[in-house]
Amino acid sequence: MSGKGIMPVLFVGHGNPMNAIENNEFSSGWEEAAKKLPEPEAILCVSAHWESWGTQATGPGKLETIHDFGGFPQALYGVQYRARGSAWLSGEIKKLMGESELTIDDGRGLDHGCWSVLSRMYPGADIPVAQLSLDQSKSGINHYETAKRLMSLRQKGVLIIGSGNMVHNLYKVRLKGEDFNQEYGFDWANRASALFKKLIINKEDKKLCGYESLGKDADLAIPTPEHFLPLLYVIALRQPGDSMDFFNDKAVAGSLTMTSFVLGA
Ligand code: ZN
Repeated sequence: MSGKGIMPVLFVGHGNPMNAIENNEFSSGWEEAAKKLPEPEAILCVSAHWESWGTQATGPGKLETIHDFGGFPQALYGVQYRARGSAWLSGEIKKLMGESELTIDDGRGLDHGCWSVLSRMYPGADIPVAQLSLDQSKSGINHYETAKRLMSLRQKGVLIIGSGNMVHNLYKVRLKGEDFNQEYGFDWANRASALFKKLIINKEDKKLCGYESLGKDADLAIPTPEHFLPLLYVIALRQPGDSMDFFNDKAVAGSLTMTSFVLGA
C-alpha cells in the first residue's frame, strides 16, 4: 500500500456459496476488485453469517473454514481457506471496540460469507484475517456507530469488507432456468436495489440505518436484517473524497442482488 493513501472499504454481495468454486461473472468481479486494491496489511470481515449476542471477533490463531450450509456438491465442502488471524489485528480491534464490549472467540473460524469471497480475492490466504460478528441486540444505527469506531484501521492498511446481499429474500427465490446466477429480479427486488443504490450514492446513511421504514419493497428485500447490516458497516467508514465504484450489480434468482461496491479505490 502506498504511504499516504487510506485503504478502501468494500461491500460484497456474496450470494450462492458455489461462487467460491465456480468461475462466473461474480467470482471474476471479486478477483478483479482485489487486483485494483492496494495490498492489505490485514482483512476485517463483517459477514451476514455470524450473528451473536454481544460483539465478538475471531482470534489471532488458526481459523477453521466453516461450511455453514447444507445440500451443496462435495467439492464445496472440500474448500479450506487457511488464513490465520494475527495478534496485531486482534489487538487493534480490541483497542477500538473496547475490552468490555468485545469478546474474542478463539475457537471460531471463518463463515462462508467471508471465505467464499476471500478465497477468490486472495487465494494465497497469506493475509491475516479477522471476522467481527453482528450483535443481534443492536439496531441499524447502533451497528453504524459501532462501525465508525473502526475508522482508523483504514489508515493502518486494513481492508474492511462487509459481506451480505442488499436484497436477500430466500423465501421468494425463483430460478430462471438451471443457473442460480442467471440475471433475474422481481420488480420489487429491482426497485429496492435502485432505492438502496440511490441512498448510498446520495450519502443518506440515516435512511439506510432506518431500513425498517423504507417501505414495502425494502421490507421484501430485507425479511431478516443480517444480509443488509454489513452494508451499514461499509457506509459508516466512508470518508470525504472517497470514490465509489459499483460492480457485480445484478439481481439473480428473483430475490437476491449481487451488487457490490468499493469506496475509496
Ligand atoms: Zn449469505
